[in-house]
Amino acid sequence: MALFHKILIANRGEIALRIQRACRELGIPTVAVHSTADATAMHVRLADESVCIGPPSARDSYLNIPAILSAAAITGADAIHPGYGFLSENARFAEMVEAHGLTFIGPAPAHIRMMGDKIAAKTAMAGLDVPLVPGSDGAVADLAEARAVAARIGYPVLIKAAAGGGGRGMKVAARDAEIEEAWRVARTEAASAFGNDQVYIEKYLDRPRHVELQVLADGHGNVVHFGERDCSLQRRHQKLLEEAGSPALDAAARDALGARVTGALARLGYRNAGTLEFLYQDGQFAFIEMNTRLQVEHPVSEAIAGVDLVQEQIRLAAGEPLGYGQADIRFSGHAIECRINAEDPLTFAPTPGRVKVFHPPGGPGVRVDSALYAGYVVPPYYDSLVAKLIVHAPSRPEAIARLARALDEFVIDGIKTTLPLHQRIVRDKEFVAGDYTIHWLERFVGSQ
Ligand code: ADP
Repeated sequence: MALFHKILIANRGEIALRIQRACRELGIPTVAVHSTADATAMHVRLADESVCIGPPSARDSYLNIPAILSAAAITGADAIHPGYGFLSENARFAEMVEAHGLTFIGPAPAHIRMMGDKIAAKTAMAGLDVPLVPGSDGAVADLAEARAVAARIGYPVLIKAAAGGGGRGMKVAARDAEIEEAWRVARTEAASAFGNDQVYIEKYLDRPRHVELQVLADGHGNVVHFGERDCSLQRRHQKLLEEAGSPALDAAARDALGARVTGALARLGYRNAGTLEFLYQDGQFAFIEMNTRLQVEHPVSEAIAGVDLVQEQIRLAAGEPLGYGQADIRFSGHAIECRINAEDPLTFAPTPGRVKVFHPPGGPGVRVDSALYAGYVVPPYYDSLVAKLIVHAPSRPEAIARLARALDEFVIDGIKTTLPLHQRIVRDKEFVAGDYTIHWLERFVGSQ
């Protein structure tokens, strides 16, 4: 019995291609959906079938639920993979997919909803013995309460939007004199960006690393993890380069965290893929949020664990049990991913336009996930990520050497990209030493 007859991929770009590849290897036909701006995109060219779902604006196309459900109905798809971004963490969408008799390739809508509200997520994790960043006990009602919380946990503090995401909706207050302004701006931004002005407060950690754990669960109590990813290299809270494993963690620390997290998710009854994000400082982990979807940086975990996470997601969504346990998962070597964005490497201004030459690197241990091709015009409407370069090698120094040579082979002409920035990072002494926190890249970029 086939897992599914046909899978509709409700996304675009490299991730739509990534999911198509997994489906093809499983023998499952795919349906691509696209906006009018993406009619000649690679994910449309390579799909078995495609349906235009609206004009360029994402709101009218990739976020257009009725159009996507109609596309599934007319093509006879019986499952939908949402990828990342767009509708991937929209619990209402997952519910509607299920209400139409289709399978949503992801977690239960109730868990998507729970983790989408960062306050509810922290409350749930606290109840499951997962350590948190010190902060307010839930939402903070007014400025007086914000002051009281800040006085209790100590400055600096971070005011965060309950519905926040994508690194937006966060404001730091370094001292009492700054909290009124930070409070006002955080609330206003949360309301306008997320339609929800609820905020909460966390201690602002001064030198943490961002360490996250990839999990898979079958909803029958079997939960495994695929090790950690270090995503500390961020600009404006957006990840730019990720590693598996973390240069800061040893196997014992990873195993201890893994046991705690998989135990918590088993008690929660979670199913499908998920990522728990932590800040790691002074040997302590503190949970910040959970992403209930596939993540951009999933290939580094695939590399070290020798697994196809998308195929696993599809299998689990079809109701198959996991079929293996933690002891069956072995980690080998080190993997690094660079996110290559259509952005100016110095100003980070988006650089949509025509790609004249596209020559991806190759050779041992090199993977490129990209929907670019020569002659393709990168449209201005969507995320600027245009390629991911992933390298895998037996050790971190070898992975860095491989990354440096692969970056030097990579040619994308016609538009500016962040390739030159990665070429500088990979040769930096501190990066090579693995000696960085979440604040490192901002300083590195500032000093260029
Ligand atoms: P988002 O959902 O917008 O990605 P997160 O809660 O995952 O928001 O935080 C994004 C990034 O912001 C983290 O990876 C980290 O770099 C930084 N950050 C979040 N919380 C804190 C904190 N309490 N102290 C210091 N940095 C933080």
